[in-house]
Amino acid sequence: MFSLKDKVVIITGSSRGIGKATAIQMAEAGAKVVISSRKKEECDKVAKNINSNGFVASSIPCHVGKKDNIKNLVQETIKRYDKIDVLVCNAATNPAFGPIANLDDNAFDKIIQVNLKSSIWLVNEASHYMKKNKGCSVIIMSSISAITGTNDIGAYGISKAAEVALVRNLAVELGPKGIRVNAIAPGLIKTDFSRALWENKENLKKHKEKTPLKRIGQPEDISGVAHFLASDASSFITGQLIIADGGETISWN
Ligand code: NAP
Repeated sequence: MFSLKDKVVIITGSSRGIGKATAIQMAEAGAKVVISSRKKEECDKVAKNINSNGFVASSIPCHVGKKDNIKNLVQETIKRYDKIDVLVCNAATNPAFGPIANLDDNAFDKIIQVNLKSSIWLVNEASHYMKKNKGCSVIIMSSISAITGTNDIGAYGISKAAEVALVRNLAVELGPKGIRVNAIAPGLIKTDFSRALWENKENLKKHKEKTPLKRIGQPEDISGVAHFLASDASSFITGQLIIADGGETISWN
């Protein structure tokens, strides 16, 4: 049920962090993974490492905020593997910190373009090919900021909440074509993206104390969820947001 044998998987933002852990996990489960981010050398390194361990990966750089890059990512994948089974829309940005009252229009446009519109472009471009296969799955990396309010990352949270609405809608539209669509909401995970949050000792302590599991997450805490959602083990799940946050959002503390 958990095998991804011969599935072709595109993972955006997979040169490091959650995306890289997901690529390694899925390759080990038998998938042919496409490593993608803005920097070719970083993607090449991850793909080379996976291949040298006896699994299958290739590197196709793509800036997800650029539509022509997304088209190329899909077309190049089809050229190399002749099909697409799983999309992991994982790359994101957050150039705006602070209250919504101070939100800069350009920063907000960038957040929406990179975090939200990119997934619409990628799904529209790839679903045409996915319709032809059985057991296809789209996974969008949201965040617990989609379901909470903050003083610092509200604009990012808006984009992450919109991703969940997108997931529900795509699940309805693509379900009849056999494509499942789900989102994952990670809590605080130790990656470069969230460095400012866990490097601050006070903040780290606050998160650990509030979280029932008394720790922050590692990329592998999320890659297992992505693997599950990509596999037949989740064959009756679609349109859902799976929260993986050590229980932080259910805690009253
Ligand atoms: P990360 O370690 O910083 O990795 C981000 C990845 O995305 C890198 O491979 C980066 O490579 C790539 N990337 C950045 N901008 C891109 C763009 N415009 N186009 C294509 N690739 C781009 O981040 P992460 O923590 O793993 O985050 C992954 C996802 O998890 C994001 O959607 C984030 O919102 C979500 N998330 C993270 C946390 C957390 O605490 N870390 C919590 C909740 C949700 P390049 O620089 O080479 O492009």
